Amino acid sequence: MKKVAPHLGLAAGVKIANSWLLTDSQGRRFLIDTGYFTDRPALLAHLWIAGVRAKHELTAVLLTHRHSDHAANAAWLRGKFDCPVVCHEADAPFLRGAKAPPRMAVGRAPVYQEWLNLFEDAYPARSAVDETYSEGAWKWGFNVVPTPGHTEGSVMLFHEPTRTLFSGDNILAGLPPLRFIEHLSLAAPGFSQDTELCNRHVHKFLSDLPQTDCLCSGHGPIVLEGTSRKLKLLLPKCAHAISS
Ligand SMILES: [Zn+2]
Repeated sequence: MKKVAPHLGLAAGVKIANSWLLTDSQGRRFLIDTGYFTDRPALLAHLWIAGVRAKHELTAVLLTHRHSDHAANAAWLRGKFDCPVVCHEADAPFLRGAKAPPRMAVGRAPVYQEWLNLFEDAYPARSAVDETYSEGAWKWGFNVVPTPGHTEGSVMLFHEPTRTLFSGDNILAGLPPLRFIEHLSLAAPGFSQDTELCNRHVHKFLSDLPQTDCLCSGHGPIVLEGTSRKLKLLLPKCAHAISS
């Protein structure tokens, strides 16, 4: 596990999407997102190195949304560490298999994205969900910012004690395959159900942005320098996206 800040580790072996390990001041450990199926060996290795090895050493798995590059290992982690899986209430029926997700490969995305969408349609993530969040102050210092539109229940999670924003796919810090190059952008339309709706919620959050020291996005590098300023620079793009 690559330590990227005193309280944060990045499961660097995760090839497509990020999986973040947050350790709070009480020693509780949260995994925010879980990577794709193929990331499982790397994820396990990085957790082992970080000292997460036995049951109950992970406090909870928190999901920003149900897409398989974020949620595919949730069920496996739940079994391995006997920890709860938590997501937004609107994504829970899809993860539980009670509702079929709408098709993603519908011809709106560039070809390479359509390939990924075909995989998502064929192998959606499934997991038991132990608890759901909805909106606002939750527990353990997390504030839930719903950003429906990427998925039904996509969220950003703001950890107040460490001023860390886990933005999921709603604010991207870089794009695969250039995932080490910092470039902040909004949700990708080719992977989102309703980008305008998502951007409206992101705009609302950015308009009243709390001091943010770390940005941990679903994709791309961690942002630790000038984070609030860089996030604010997205506001005009966001305003343009929702007005055009
Ligand atoms: Zn996604």
